[in-house]
Amino acid sequence: MEKMEKLANETKQLARLQTVELERTRLTAALKALPGELAAADSQLKAAQKRVSDTDAGLKREELLRASLELEIAGLRSKAARHRDQLNSAKNAAQATALEHEISFAETEISRLEDRELTSMEDTERLEIERSKAIELAAKLTETTGLIRARIGEQDLEFREQLAAYKIERESLRAELASWEDGSKLAHFDRIASMRGTGLARADGQQCSGCRMGIRPQVWNQLRDGAVLPCESCSRILYYDPAMAPAPTKSPLPIQSDLGGNSIKRKQAGA
Ligand SMILES: [Zn+2]
Repeated sequence: MEKMEKLANETKQLARLQTVELERTRLTAALKALPGELAAADSQLKAAQKRVSDTDAGLKREELLRASLELEIAGLRSKAARHRDQLNSAKNAAQATALEHEISFAETEISRLEDRELTSMEDTERLEIERSKAIELAAKLTETTGLIRARIGEQDLEFREQLAAYKIERESLRAELASWEDGSKLAHFDRIASMRGTGLARADGQQCSGCRMGIRPQVWNQLRDGAVLPCESCSRILYYDPAMAPAPTKSPLPIQSDLGGNSIKRKQAGA
């Protein structure tokens, strides 16, 4: 009886060590992933901010373009007006034709530049919509990034604290386990865990819960008697936990009693 209890206790320690190891692995990975999460949010924010400054620059460019177009148009208009004046005092037909040609050229050019101005106005409208959308997005992302940064700060601290606590627990568990059977079980556990991720598995329904392979009836019986044996397929240390076992299956009740059983169930449900 004493031996059984010791065995159960040792198995519990190993199971706890396995939980601690898995949690340490999970927390270490989660801790490592935290800066990446913030970096992803940050790069989204930077992209939105760049869109704001890009549209800003675009709007300024269009404004400058229209100012220069206005200047050019004004120049062409005064040139055309001058040519019209000269046309009134043209000395001959050839001179008049040349002036008319100049005026027509200026007018074509003015209308081309005015079209360009219109396109620029449309571009400005589009850029303004884009800019306000980008500003809205950047504001939202600034808020989100701030929240992520705060959460990550808290999680970083929390994960580190948990890891520190697990480290202490792990060391004391290992020290205790190392004193049993000259540490041979712990060494076996470590060897399998390093290969398969876990070194211990529960025997459940005549199956190894680690590799899902069946357990021979003889080994299964030994496990159910409290023995702790390696799985013949994956070498994980197998144990049987009666507390986790399914309730023993009852033999089916005759029809008469079944009716009675149902009425009892109903009564219990109603109560
Ligand atoms: Zn197995």
